[in-house]
Amino acid sequence: PKFVYDFTEGNKDLKDLLGGKGANLAEMTNLGLPVPPGFTITTEACKTYLDSGEEPAALRDEVSAHLDALEAKMGKKLGQADDPLLVSVRSGAKFSMPGMMDTVLNIGLSDKSVQGLAKQAGDDRFAWDSYRRLIQMFGKTVLGVDGDLFEEALEAAKAAKKVAVDTELEAADLKKLVTKFKKIVKTEAGRDFPQDPREQMDLAIKAVFDSWNGERAKLYRRQERIPHDLGTAVNVCSMVFGNLGPDSGTGVAFTRDPASGHQGVYGDYLQNAQGEDVVAGIRNTVALAELEQIDKKSYDQLMQIMETLENHYLDLCDIEFTIERGQLWMLQTRVGKRTAGAAFRIATQLVDQGLIDEAEALQRVNGAQLAQLMFPRFDEEAKVEKVGRGIAASPGAAVGKAVFDSYTAVKWSRSGEKVILVRRETNPDDLDGMIAAEGILTSRGGKTSHAAVVARGMGKTCVCGAEELEVDTKRRRMTVPGGHVVEEGDVISIDGSSGKVYLGEVPVVPSPVVEYFEGRMHAGAEDADELVEAVHRIMAFADRKRRLRVRANADNAEDALRARRFGAQGIGLCRTEHMFLGDRRELVERLILADTEDEREESLKALLPLQKQDFVQLFESMDGLPVTVRLLDPPLHEFLPDITELSVRVALAESRQEPHENELRLLQAVHRLHEQNPMLGLRGVRLGLAIPGLFTMQVRAIAEAAAERKAAKGDPRAEIMIPLVGTVQELEIVREEADQVIAEVEAATGAKLKLSIGTMIELPRAALTAGQIAEAAEFFSFGTNDLTQTVWGFSRDDVEASFFTAYLEKGIFGVSPFETIDKDGVGSLVAAAAKAGRETRPDLKLGVCGEHGGDPESVHFFHEVGLDYVSCSPFRIPVARLEAGRAAS
Ligand code: ADP
Ligand code: MG
Ligand code: MG
Repeated sequence: PKFVYDFTEGNKDLKDLLGGKGANLAEMTNLGLPVPPGFTITTEACKTYLDSGEEPAALRDEVSAHLDALEAKMGKKLGQADDPLLVSVRSGAKFSMPGMMDTVLNIGLSDKSVQGLAKQAGDDRFAWDSYRRLIQMFGKTVLGVDGDLFEEALEAAKAAKKVAVDTELEAADLKKLVTKFKKIVKTEAGRDFPQDPREQMDLAIKAVFDSWNGERAKLYRRQERIPHDLGTAVNVCSMVFGNLGPDSGTGVAFTRDPASGHQGVYGDYLQNAQGEDVVAGIRNTVALAELEQIDKKSYDQLMQIMETLENHYLDLCDIEFTIERGQLWMLQTRVGKRTAGAAFRIATQLVDQGLIDEAEALQRVNGAQLAQLMFPRFDEEAKVEKVGRGIAASPGAAVGKAVFDSYTAVKWSRSGEKVILVRRETNPDDLDGMIAAEGILTSRGGKTSHAAVVARGMGKTCVCGAEELEVDTKRRRMTVPGGHVVEEGDVISIDGSSGKVYLGEVPVVPSPVVEYFEGRMHAGAEDADELVEAVHRIMAFADRKRRLRVRANADNAEDALRARRFGAQGIGLCRTEHMFLGDRRELVERLILADTEDEREESLKALLPLQKQDFVQLFESMDGLPVTVRLLDPPLHEFLPDITELSVRVALAESRQEPHENELRLLQAVHRLHEQNPMLGLRGVRLGLAIPGLFTMQVRAIAEAAAERKAAKGDPRAEIMIPLVGTVQELEIVREEADQVIAEVEAATGAKLKLSIGTMIELPRAALTAGQIAEAAEFFSFGTNDLTQTVWGFSRDDVEASFFTAYLEKGIFGVSPFETIDKDGVGSLVAAAAKAGRETRPDLKLGVCGEHGGDPESVHFFHEVGLDYVSCSPFRIPVARLEAGRAAS
């Protein structure tokens, strides 16, 4: 294979091979934009190296050939003593992993060529600044020297000179610093800083390969669900210099605001600086708009290029650029990360601009973003003490105890505390603390700082650059204006949508998006929120496209009504067990303990009207829409008193010689019904078959409720669902009894009820014999929670807390199979059962209830295998609608 591509050879669709950065550098090169020449080493080369521990044999020669060509183009040789070609060696994987892997700038400088560079540029300071940066970056990332040692030496040099920023250091100071840095390298790495430019380059390339497997990178990939076997590409790019004086500089820009989606000029610029300085928040940047004053020509050109890029990528792009003595260079672009709200707005804006169509707009947003927009926000009316304001870097409302380092963040959050990670600025080492925290607050850095970029990517609340806050990480405290000190453990609240920082806990209010779904805020109204407007339109696109219907899991009229407002097209799962709690528990207890037919009849008779009333309300709230009622499912003992508690009661009564006949009877029954494995015991249809009259009472309640609704001119559409069926015989027996009861109710009321009867498919045997079961079922609802438990042999209530973390860490699954359907195992059973069921009964209705019904990835799967609907909790309904629309477009 070909391992090296010149920037002129690639294009944006080659991200797998060239990584995102390489593919886009090539794309920009071919668009005729000013990109410094260079070449990209493929991810294949990286994978070969990582697998075998050796660089592929052909790689060295190919790199040499491309380097020769680059040198010819630039008219100078790498590290040439009198006029050195310098390059950067940059990582760049398929998916952006900001700051997670290594990049080394200024490769090619040495004790000799630094002189040549100084002469060519006519600037000693610049040359020595570039050299010290090389040794620093190379020392840290290639030779593994602790970066703090360099930072401390730099700080010491500034202190000795009594200056505040590095630009005030002069050539002589920097020269001394270089000597110091070289000494640090020698001591720490046990070798001299390499003077041979090619050796520098080769070592840097290898270090970039290796950085793919760095701890930071691995953690980030797990968090972002990026596969571990992609490898990174390496970009070798000729250097341009932003640190050549005030007419030079470096910056980042967005073609639109990544927080709001508004078009305009967004970004940061830093004069007389090199690449990393902007992102690291070393010095304070100026707003990009100010570049117009500083260098109008470059500014205008940049605006032009930004427009070109948007029209080419048809999306928001982010950009890294450098100006070298008035000449603009593009160093990176990609389709930019954005907040959830901006994603919705940008998608609709692009539709309005005629750049994309509705189907494409649906691909620009996702259910996870919509879910994020449904989070509550801070109550603006609340009496709170605002103590600072930073940049609104990533939205959300976060409350927690202030912690000042990653370690504490992780430790405290493990013990169940909510924490806010407060730092001066973050760097990649803070990643696990950022993951553990509710939110992130920094006192330095802009919208493009590490904290901001990473938090946005994780969907985590972040306020950055809150400069009035004095963060002292050493003493674990921060001082707010006015002198109040926030100590580690004090509660603070941060608002990532406004950038505000508060002392104490601020109460939260619902999001406008939820207000909209609830019908309390309307799209199209004069003062309508822009975000609500965008969500409204995207939801309409999704509803037009989707084939899957979306129902709710709801057990009472209140939930049902909310679900309906959220767009539910029926109830896919009404759990009747919730109707047996509270006051009614005693009746159930009596039913279970009944010794005689009469006793049983009596308790059933008492339960019937109560059940019926529940159903009347439910059918009324879902009038005209299907309501699937599941007959009683959970293990019986859930309705009985706790065995230990009861034993104590009996023992007490005994010792006091008080009468305790009832307690004793109860205790005996509890013992009799006790099961080692209740989830695999007496539950579901087994209950219906073991306790005569229980299911028929429930069916009667449903039928009578439906009849009552009919009489009231309603349109009830009840569906009766039998849980935990493993064989068609179970279903046939229940069905026969049910049909009889329904016929009785119809005869008595004169109503034609048209109740359908179906079953859950939640046991492997049911799935495997779905063809037979469909003989007796008018619908299937896949109970994917139980199906996952039984297919894997996992007890959901136990395993998530015990070994799932280890499984996730070892990569056995990328995500819990209870969260996202396990397509290969559980999913293939669902697909096969759906197919077999429809072969028996072509009009068999197919749905799914359980957590998976509201999980984006699972919704796509259910669409693909041809189910008719998904059912999920009311709050997940908008997410399911959106994802069903995305799946169909
Ligand atoms: P990251 O993926 O962490 O952003 P990059 O490879 O983009 O790393 O490089 C880090 C910084 O160095 C960026 O600001 C980039 O613009 C700058 N940079 C990279 N290559 C060059 C170059 N050839 N000339 C000047 N600056 C560069
Ligand atoms: Mg970059
Ligand atoms: Mg179940």
